[in-house]
Amino acid sequence: MGKCRSTSIPPLINPNTNEISVGEKEKADLLNSYFCNISTSSDDGVTPPDLLLRTQHSLDIDEITEDEIKDILKSLEIGKASDIERRLNEDLQTLNDWSKQWLVDFNPQKTEYMVFNFRKDAQPIYLKFNGELIKKVDDHKHLGVTFSDNYDNYYNTRNRSHYRVPRCRLDIFSKSFFPSSIRTWNLLPLDIRSIQSSPNFKNTIRRNDISFLVPKYYFIGNRIENILHTKLRHRCSPLKADLYRVNLVNDPSCECGCPLEDSIHFFLECPLYINFRNQLFKNIQHLADISIEHILFGTDEITVEQNTILFRNVHSYIRHTKRFFD
Ligand SMILES: [Zn+2]
Repeated sequence: MGKCRSTSIPPLINPNTNEISVGEKEKADLLNSYFCNISTSSDDGVTPPDLLLRTQHSLDIDEITEDEIKDILKSLEIGKASDIERRLNEDLQTLNDWSKQWLVDFNPQKTEYMVFNFRKDAQPIYLKFNGELIKKVDDHKHLGVTFSDNYDNYYNTRNRSHYRVPRCRLDIFSKSFFPSSIRTWNLLPLDIRSIQSSPNFKNTIRRNDISFLVPKYYFIGNRIENILHTKLRHRCSPLKADLYRVNLVNDPSCECGCPLEDSIHFFLECPLYINFRNQLFKNIQHLADISIEHILFGTDEITVEQNTILFRNVHSYIRHTKRFFD
């Protein structure tokens, strides 16, 4: 019960009023009276033991007004580094005394501090913990988020130096959105990956020529055919299997009767496009092995010019089948 969160106790019915209690106090009172009623132990004439207090001090301010906070802040010379330093060192000393009393070890060498300040000419401060100087840092990573003393950039980019690409059983999956994005990220120069703020990251990407990351032949051809080819590559095309995968249609089958109209079926199997397919194969078979991967992604094994010819023929197939046009 001690670890039970109050929200995990469902609403209870009050047996006296037959009404549902949802408030925390009402539920606690109901449970308390229920367990008292069924308790069989007798505590008549028993004096409860004195329980030792687990804390020496308690905070008994129930309410503090805005003016009281302003008064406290006015009394502090918060603009002066020496005053900040003195107060923080006092607090660290209190913490150290507490840790000694309760045998809790803190490691000063693993303790760091960061200063958030608008002023660029702020004086340095020196903090000591358990007799050792604490290291000052400019940023600190916590749960994957980097906090920086340059708090204009509180919106951090994920700057891990290298992400692991998830295991991909199929080549076609390894080239889909997430694995290919991770690979592209890992290909970026380290200084770009380490940029802390999102706007700065975007500007740098725009300024730098990163076209080496995307094959040139991905940009060729008529815009509509190029977009369709890209959608087929990323399995988000108007083919029934792609629509079925994202719950946009109830039936993934092809008009020819095949139960699955995916890109393999469209490019390599469907009897509705046999003539156009024969033409496609005839035009590309001297360039590379005929496979769905090569048709969708091209291949590093041939030149950019050869990939361009391959892609132009794939676009031509997409156009002539009229599968995506009325
Ligand atoms: Zn078909």
